[in-house]
Amino acid sequence: MSLESILNAESVAIVGASKDPTKRGLQTIRSLVDEKYEGRIYPVNPKEKKILGFTCYKKVSDIEGPVDIVLVATPARSVPDVLEDCGKKSVKGAVILAVGFGEMNAEGKALEREVLAIANKNNIRLIGPNTSGMMNMHSGLNLVGLRDTPKGSIGLLSQSGNMALTLITEARLKSLKGFSYYIGVGNEADIKFHEYLKFLKNDPKTNVILMYVEGMREGRKFLQQAYQTSIKKPIVLLKSGHSEIGQRSAGSHTGALAGMSEVARSAFKRAGIIVIEKSDQLFPAAETLASLPPLKKNQIAILADGGGHATIGADILTELSIDVPELSEKTQRKLAAILPQAASISNPVDIAGGADADPTVFADCAEILLKDKNIYGLLIVGLFGGYGIRFSESLGLMEEDAAHRMGKLVKKIKKPIIVHSLYGSEKSHPLHLLRYYNIPVYDSLDVAAKCMGVLGEYENYHSSYQAKTNFVLNQGVKKIPEATEIISKAKAENRSALLEHEAKQLLALHGAPVTKDRLAKTAGNAVEFAKKIENGVVLKIVSPDILHKSDARGVRVNLRTEKDIRKAYSEIIKNAKEYNPNADIRGVLVSPMANAGTEVIIGTKIDDQFGPVIMFGIGGIMVEVLKDVAFRVLPISYNSAKKMIREIRSYPILKGFRGNPSCDERALRRLLLTCSDIIDSYEEIREMDLNPVIVYEKGISVVDARIILS
Ligand code: ADP
Ligand code: MG
Repeated sequence: MSLESILNAESVAIVGASKDPTKRGLQTIRSLVDEKYEGRIYPVNPKEKKILGFTCYKKVSDIEGPVDIVLVATPARSVPDVLEDCGKKSVKGAVILAVGFGEMNAEGKALEREVLAIANKNNIRLIGPNTSGMMNMHSGLNLVGLRDTPKGSIGLLSQSGNMALTLITEARLKSLKGFSYYIGVGNEADIKFHEYLKFLKNDPKTNVILMYVEGMREGRKFLQQAYQTSIKKPIVLLKSGHSEIGQRSAGSHTGALAGMSEVARSAFKRAGIIVIEKSDQLFPAAETLASLPPLKKNQIAILADGGGHATIGADILTELSIDVPELSEKTQRKLAAILPQAASISNPVDIAGGADADPTVFADCAEILLKDKNIYGLLIVGLFGGYGIRFSESLGLMEEDAAHRMGKLVKKIKKPIIVHSLYGSEKSHPLHLLRYYNIPVYDSLDVAAKCMGVLGEYENYHSSYQAKTNFVLNQGVKKIPEATEIISKAKAENRSALLEHEAKQLLALHGAPVTKDRLAKTAGNAVEFAKKIENGVVLKIVSPDILHKSDARGVRVNLRTEKDIRKAYSEIIKNAKEYNPNADIRGVLVSPMANAGTEVIIGTKIDDQFGPVIMFGIGGIMVEVLKDVAFRVLPISYNSAKKMIREIRSYPILKGFRGNPSCDERALRRLLLTCSDIIDSYEEIREMDLNPVIVYEKGISVVDARIILS
């Protein structure tokens, strides 16, 4: 069922309606009246006759007319009975405000399951529980009881009522933009993030989607939906809970897992979502995307009335990969003609006092700059909007004139202007005019520059859309029968992991370059196998009960003589028995000694929220100490494999520096893709660990592989 009938409900019952102004049961009815909600309003409270003039009902099933949605404002324990009663009428949806469900404890989880079962049985869709509610700003269906929420085109999904309140307050005080919907998703017991997202994608009143997320329940479905949505409408998202303590807080807040933030954020970005790191940039990013034409290319001009702001702005833009290119000679000539001698007419342009007597010069410059064919957007920094405040009122009128002209310019030329003004928080008519013309104004230079970056990021995503993954698994990659046999054999033996040589065999069947190992059952075997190998050999214990061979002192490297091999063989067996007396020892693996190269690791696992993910990092201390790794949700493309490799901080080591040779990046990319294919094909594999993989100037070798089965 589509969410339309509940988010655009034409009748609403309020269970727990009240006459007490401190209670949601009254605030909600009042805000429905204030917002001129056109649907029917039914208070439900067995003790009252009338509330705010509306007839009160004892229970929902007593209401004569149809009821689309029920706001349940009573405590958690009462919710099952309320929903059972709702089931007697064909109620379509319920918003459950109460806390004390899955976010709290085992008892709460059980209650949440019970409530969900009752809802499913009665075809009632649930918003929440543990939510601040839902608002449809266009129909006036305001179930949050919050007054003065500005109307507009931003659809807001939030897992925190207070973050929603922050964003709504920011919109009200600092912007002329507003909201189409607010939905507090709460615990996602029934309706999930991806369903709301789909609704907002198709909602004609919404043109930007703004999200605050702590954790989500069906991450992969969300990514798939986001991939389809972001190409139509920008999605701006803040994901909190990177820190361990933050995760703890988020876990208890929403009852969803917050973990694996790196996985989440890299996946969100690949799905075309604009991921914001700082809470004060969240609303501005959405506002900018809701206001301005796209930044077609990451090349902009900075226009300043002093050096300091221009320099800071340029620094921030560089970090955001936005170019501030040289201006054409023609542009420079036109600027020189209207600016004083002291002005800087190269990019960033510094008016240098040129506006002191006449701020309309800002509009002149803006026009000249945006007509330059190498310039796709403009960031104005400094005092604009405050000349009337700082110097003389008459200048304020000229600023208004400039604001009118710039507003019309953006519309005509279809290139964005963003304004930083240090007077951004003052009551300034020129700045108000800019906002009226959809030119965002910020008093923070960082925020203003970041918003330009956001426009660029969204445009970049559009232009590379075809190359992105849609996050759908099991697409045509075929299982290989011999590989399936290896897995079946292990399962038949009740093993939860493949032995090293089995794992390598499976990898080899998919084209991965693994060491050519043989399983020796006796020391004599080992000596015989080693004879055919020139470079020396490595012996490793083979036992389903010993996953970490070094821990059992079960690995010996660089063995060259028969004597050494025999000695190592018996020591390895002895060590293994000491380590685990009950270990089922299958023999010893004889592996050719690999040449030295750069050791990297590749791992895969099943993430609770997003399903299969892959990890890449440089081995040794880089992984253990610096945790320098990159994650991607599977499947990955050749391009994302490339980006993943280049993303880690120690990438220069792979690239080769100070005379060290560079590594075979192509071979590494292919191996990452092979791993992606394998995980895509065999749902029986839970975890894979290739550690180490040795990368050479030419070629690559998987030296150790572990595959854990589900
Ligand atoms: P485990 O991870 O189970 O302890 P490995 O197979 O990774 O066992 O062996 C431990 C270490 O021995 C590896 O990290 C690697 O440095 C080295 N090693 C293992 N096999 C080889 C090989 N074939 N050639 C060179 N070095 C090897
Ligand atoms: Mg290993």
